[in-house]
Amino acid sequence: MTIAFHGAARTVTGSKHLLTLDNGKKVLLDCGMFQGMGHETDALNRDFGFDAKEVTYLILSHAHIDHSGLVPKLVKEGFNGKIFATSGTKDLCAVLLEDSANIQRDDAHYENKRRKETGEPLIEPIYSVEDAKKAMTLFETVPYGQFTVIEPGLELLYTDAGHIIGSAAVSLKITNGDKITHLTFSGDVGRYNDMILTHPQTFPQADYILIESTYGDSLHQSFAPATDVLHDWVIKTCVEKKGKLIIPAFSVGRTQEILFMLNQMELEKSLPSLDYYVDSPLSEEATIVVKHHPENFNDNIKNILKVDNDPFDFKGLHYIETVDESKALNDRKDAMVIISASGMADAGRVKHHIANNISDPKNTILIVGYCEPRSLGGQLMNGAKKVHIFGEEYKVQAEVGVMRSMSAHGDYEDLLHFVASQDAKQVKKVFIVHGEYPVQQHFREHLMSKGFANVEIPERHQAFTLE
Ligand SMILES: [Zn+2]
Repeated sequence: MTIAFHGAARTVTGSKHLLTLDNGKKVLLDCGMFQGMGHETDALNRDFGFDAKEVTYLILSHAHIDHSGLVPKLVKEGFNGKIFATSGTKDLCAVLLEDSANIQRDDAHYENKRRKETGEPLIEPIYSVEDAKKAMTLFETVPYGQFTVIEPGLELLYTDAGHIIGSAAVSLKITNGDKITHLTFSGDVGRYNDMILTHPQTFPQADYILIESTYGDSLHQSFAPATDVLHDWVIKTCVEKKGKLIIPAFSVGRTQEILFMLNQMELEKSLPSLDYYVDSPLSEEATIVVKHHPENFNDNIKNILKVDNDPFDFKGLHYIETVDESKALNDRKDAMVIISASGMADAGRVKHHIANNISDPKNTILIVGYCEPRSLGGQLMNGAKKVHIFGEEYKVQAEVGVMRSMSAHGDYEDLLHFVASQDAKQVKKVFIVHGEYPVQQHFREHLMSKGFANVEIPERHQAFTLE
């Protein structure tokens, strides 16, 4: 049996790990898109590094695009097997993959306008809405907490990873004659004190573990509570300076957390009376999906649900559907909050909002999640004075805020907590994935201090034999 790491290897996006069983069957763990890696991004997404037609099964850990975004490409290139996912992941993918196809179409259209002028070759979107729809027909849902037989000798267990609705760690039980091998892929690991979601569950003793490491060298708790920080930015930008507060946010997860915090301010009677726009064509649908999956909710939100039947809705909240409505926000001069995808500000409508508002010091761009350093969000977060958006240069005159306390990813203590159920001596190898290389090196030290003796940080396309 071998495993090859085709994405999220020494970087945080493009999650794709291909397991080849002794019987020749190939199991792909996640089929994520690379995001925010500058000029390299497109080329990375066009070449899997393996033949899609040879993949037997696809198992998804969760619906975030960096874990699911290339599923339609896999199908377009000839994959025709089953796609296993939790029910929450399937519902979110139905919304996200189609949206991803639309974003690609729009970005390609925009980019090609520029390329036509410069005479550069035109680009094609990686897949279409039709490809995304076809991919959805291959999904099969698997419940949490019980081993499900995929085929004789291959069983799948999902345990709640507490990261987003539907998120799971993937445990495989592979039987070959008398030999049983347990392999667990963490997916993305949430936090043990999330506002909305249950905490990550334990998983059975594994021989091999693939673990994410996004925040493998940091601790979140040293930062101020997220709701207070958000409240301060709303007051400073919208009430004091009468400006626009632009929040790039993943449509799934982060957008609902922001809405949940704003709703909490309303319950506490501290929410300024303003217009709050969620400008991402799928955020309303995504919010509906979130509301339909209370199996992932923790006691905090369950208690709020007793007094407020919609903890994601408050006075002044509007969802923007059309491009024209979105553009109309640019002409408005009054204070407002705009929450818009994508989270790294690398695609989607938020890029236009940033381009339109970045030159005015009364506005704020508030970064609320992880951003790849080369992405627009990452450049702003790191204090860039000038940025390029759609090929044009902009001076950064708006304020840039960063809410470090919000993360859907565990810090290194959460990650160590996640593997604490394991007898480290029984684990033959841990593969650290989904992190930047320097962070992964720190995280390896943390793991080794807990007794995990054999810890690898695979490179992209690197393959390993599993005993
Ligand atoms: Zn994720």
